[in-house]
Amino acid sequence: MRQSIPRRRDASELPASTPVVIVGGGIVGVASAWFLRQYGLEAIVVEAAHDIGVRTTAMSAHCIRAQFSDRDNIAMMAESLDFYEHFNERLGTDRSDASIGLCQQGYLFASTDPADTGVFASRIATQRAAGLDDVELLTGEEARQRFPWLSDEIAVATFRSRDGWIDSRLAVEAIAAAAQVPIFLNVSASEILVEAGAVIGVNTSAGTIATDTVVIAAGPFSRELSPEPLPISLWRRHRLIVAANSAIPQTGPVTIDANSGSHWRPHRGGALLAWAQPETDQPAQWPVQPDPEFVELILQSEGGVGRLAPFWNDLRLRLRSSEILLTAGQYTMTPDHRPLIGAAPRTRGLYLNTGYSGHGIMGAPAGARILAEAMTRSNDGSHPFAPNRFDGQTDSPDIEQVVI
Ligand SMILES: Cc1cc2nc3c(=O)[nH]c(=O)nc-3n(C[C@H](O)[C@H](O)[C@H](O)COP(=O)(O)OP(=O)(O)OC[C@H]3O[C@@H](n4cnc5c(N)ncnc54)[C@H](O)[C@@H]3O)c2cc1C
Repeated sequence: MRQSIPRRRDASELPASTPVVIVGGGIVGVASAWFLRQYGLEAIVVEAAHDIGVRTTAMSAHCIRAQFSDRDNIAMMAESLDFYEHFNERLGTDRSDASIGLCQQGYLFASTDPADTGVFASRIATQRAAGLDDVELLTGEEARQRFPWLSDEIAVATFRSRDGWIDSRLAVEAIAAAAQVPIFLNVSASEILVEAGAVIGVNTSAGTIATDTVVIAAGPFSRELSPEPLPISLWRRHRLIVAANSAIPQTGPVTIDANSGSHWRPHRGGALLAWAQPETDQPAQWPVQPDPEFVELILQSEGGVGRLAPFWNDLRLRLRSSEILLTAGQYTMTPDHRPLIGAAPRTRGLYLNTGYSGHGIMGAPAGARILAEAMTRSNDGSHPFAPNRFDGQTDSPDIEQVVI
């Protein structure tokens, strides 16, 4: 059996009632649709844009890694990576050509500070204890033997060869095709209707849908759509695409400056660059206007990509504006930088799958599985990503050092 295409529908076909409405057709909403179907729940997706996966999902760096520094994130990301590694098998398709562009060239976290050796070693010990036993601790010399273009200044690094990146656009398309859930495009949810503390429907730009179950998977717009407050801040994040250039090594890993957060990876003969800088909360927006100064920042400043990979310092002087493309999106940040998955604390029938804090591509499969279990009571709702963990809580435990 050949895999079919996603069931795209236009607004005129919107049903008057349905058991479950998923708001948002990014990678998180589409993965939710597939997993809900596996657990016997029939859902529809409403998507405000003209197509699926075209907003934050499309703006990302598409990187996937299991190298995290706490047990829960490691488990979530390792499960998701396993899903991406066995994509066709997991989706139950026999389409061997359904590539998602999985590229496992590894993830390298590198530091020029010798004192980070202890930090990295202890992180690897945590990873091993969590079952992730293939992360290597490298000296600067060992890192340079593998990747000769690295700076002489690097003192220590960690590397995992099975980390890497995918093409999220292909993944969204394939997951939506496998889910065979109706996806209503150009339909914007304006209000989730609640009566006596329970969901009763959704107002949309194409009419009202009666339902007692809604999943908010609206990315940066989740906070403003939710009928109850969500602990989410929105941070603008930039991405710079550099066109194909023979100076950019194509066999390298995602290379992260652990001291500054700037990073890059090979991309279609060129590269994709990003930087996790501190940000302040902003309203949800689409499109997200980039700051043109980011180009200079990531290519020319002290902590930019040239610090660990000096070839950038020569290349940047030769780059023409036609060879770079700057874009931006919004990270949906929670206080502990972990997603909100499962029942909303105060509204019956309202479920959340959002707040991925910059890790929604790598977290979506495991997150959607957890959501489906929460909605079918296959778990007891007490998993580490349950939204009620913030009730009455003001501190922020287990924050990852670098939000990439
Ligand atoms: C520069 C940058 C780099 C990143 N790099 C990575 C990375 O390397 N790896 C990684 O894992 N993550 C990365 N991320 C984060 C990742 O992109 C997100 O976590 C992920 O895309 C979130 O997916 P989503 O489906 O929740 O959101 P979205 O892709 O934004 O999807 C939400 C959808 O909901 C729709 N919607 C919103 N409101 C409504 C409404 N009212 N009615 C109907 N539809 C609505 C939107 O149109 C949108 O399509 C990066 C993000 C940025 C900005």
